[in-house]
Amino acid sequence: MLQPPHSSLQVAAVPAQRGPARDRDQDAPWHTEAVCRRDEAGLFFAPSKEPTAARLSREEAAKRVCARCPVMVECREHALLQPEPYGVWGGLTAAERRVVLARRRRRDLELKKAARVTNRIAAAG
Ligand code: SF4
Repeated sequence: MLQPPHSSLQVAAVPAQRGPARDRDQDAPWHTEAVCRRDEAGLFFAPSKEPTAARLSREEAAKRVCARCPVMVECREHALLQPEPYGVWGGLTAAERRVVLARRRRRDLELKKAARVTNRIAAAG
């Protein structure tokens, strides 16, 4: 299973000279270009019992890192496809990814409905 690129959840298991991103799945080529490979600040995952104001501030800081990351699109799609339930990935928080996924599901349903209507019209024609 692909490990988070920046998982502060994994920091304790990672030697100090290595960033948490080193735990990434080496099969994913985009990992090597991730800006968050050394997340010493622990920006991407919430510590336990994090106050809301601190969470919002941390997430904004993580998003600023993502904004300058050359693999943001790949990272975001990975997090949406898994789906990754925690942390900031590809510039999106977990809550924001849930919104994107809900929109995609609605869009897919609309496309299926449109395809059924088109098929009925074609069959009747
Ligand atoms: S987009 Fe953000 S979370 Fe994803 S690899 Fe880049 S810096 Fe890390």
